[in-house]
Amino acid sequence: MSLIHYPPSYYAASANPAPERPPLQGETSADVCVIGAGFTGLSTAIALLEGGFSVVVLEAAKVGFGASGRNGGQIVNSYSRDIDAIERSVSAGSAKLLADMAFAGGRIIRERVQKYGIACDLKDGGVFAALTAKQIKHLEAQKRLWERFGYNNQLEMLDDQGIRGVVASERYVGGLLDKSGGHIHPLNLALGEAAAVERLSGRIYEQSPATRIERGAQPVVHTAEGQVKARFVVVAGNAYLGNLVPELAAKSMPCGTQVITTEPLSEEIAKTLLPQDYCVEDCNYLLDYYRLSAERRLIYGGGVVYGARDPANIEAIIRPKMLKTFPQLEKVKVDFAWTGNFLLTLSRLPQVGRLNDNIYYSQGCSGHGVTFTHVVGKALAEAINGQASRFDAFAELPHYPFPGGRLFRVPFTAIGAWYYSLRDKLGI
Ligand SMILES: Cc1cc2nc3c(=O)[nH]c(=O)nc-3n(C[C@H](O)[C@H](O)[C@H](O)COP(=O)(O)OP(=O)(O)OC[C@H]3O[C@@H](n4cnc5c(N)ncnc54)[C@H](O)[C@@H]3O)c2cc1C
Repeated sequence: MSLIHYPPSYYAASANPAPERPPLQGETSADVCVIGAGFTGLSTAIALLEGGFSVVVLEAAKVGFGASGRNGGQIVNSYSRDIDAIERSVSAGSAKLLADMAFAGGRIIRERVQKYGIACDLKDGGVFAALTAKQIKHLEAQKRLWERFGYNNQLEMLDDQGIRGVVASERYVGGLLDKSGGHIHPLNLALGEAAAVERLSGRIYEQSPATRIERGAQPVVHTAEGQVKARFVVVAGNAYLGNLVPELAAKSMPCGTQVITTEPLSEEIAKTLLPQDYCVEDCNYLLDYYRLSAERRLIYGGGVVYGARDPANIEAIIRPKMLKTFPQLEKVKVDFAWTGNFLLTLSRLPQVGRLNDNIYYSQGCSGHGVTFTHVVGKALAEAINGQASRFDAFAELPHYPFPGGRLFRVPFTAIGAWYYSLRDKLGI
């Protein structure tokens, strides 16, 4: 079997040392078999192990191979659609639970980093940058909404002068600072979480794609050379899951987004660009997101490819976006460019649920998943442990199939994206 390696990302090039984890061979058993070693799988595994369960994690490639090891590293509170959309979709009790959890992910990450001594360049502070007056109004409403749900003393509106104090770009008319936002080296967070799993006596097998789940009272997860008998299975393959669980594939769509990383910037340029070292995402539907790395490289992402085909020249797509924001970087070299897949759902809200009573899943956080995956991991572990109130609140979010089925998912969504990108361009 040929080994699957990390993509050529800046994160892979600056990853902390990690052990080689051999593939699963032969038969084994555990209370829970987790499929996928991204943030969802690892976060669930840690919460289960802390609760006394035995856990085996099967990873098709390497820890953090998927979106968790390739993303913008931005700790963004709430969900891909905000709590007001959630309030319209579920009961008042579930909305309250989901709203409380909307601000818990960053706290869980910080606790884990502290508790397990994870070196992942954690920094505080994230900014939503507005390109239009309409987006400012939206941010004001977002601040009111979050404060209504008790998220106080963390948010600060920035006017056109204020935003220039945090990002040296002429594009923005204002913004919203979230002091509990922040950023991390995502692959190093995933690797640190994997080490925590093992420290808690969990077992992780890499290069071990689950090929089949035998459903039943005691499910069995098969790989090419082995199998895991478990009381429960957690499916956490997200955009990389393929068709392992056809019910999940039918209601979601993998999409690619691309990231570039510059050569290290001088201290002076870095300090001018992002003086507070906050991460930034703009307020467009098809948004740009960026931040500095620990060694002062600018990590800049954006763009969406529906259907997750890998674009041929990533730098040609993302560099113009970076230069539109920071024309002063014209002469700066790009050292790394890569693509990664996130999973889109029709509602842009995550899909969390249970199949056959003992197969749990979470997928489709539609682009904002760093915090959500940490929250849902706890909720999944609680549910397996018999306390399902938070899990049930997530499970109440409605799931919709893509109209026209798999064949029409890409054209349908691309039309939607074209519409939203037109709205971004026209500022409406
Ligand atoms: C380029 C990019 C930038 C992003 N930026 C941000 C950001 O700045 N902030 C933010 O909040 N969110 C961001 N996101 C979204 C966020 O990264 C994801 O929502 C989150 O990491 C999803 O985690 P996950 O564990 O569910 O999935 P993944 O991290 O994709 O992990 C799934 C894992 O399952 C494995 N797997 C799949 N199938 C099998 C199988 N059959 N058997 C065994 N293993 C399997 C895969 O190999 C993979 O390692 C970004 C996403 C991308 C792609």
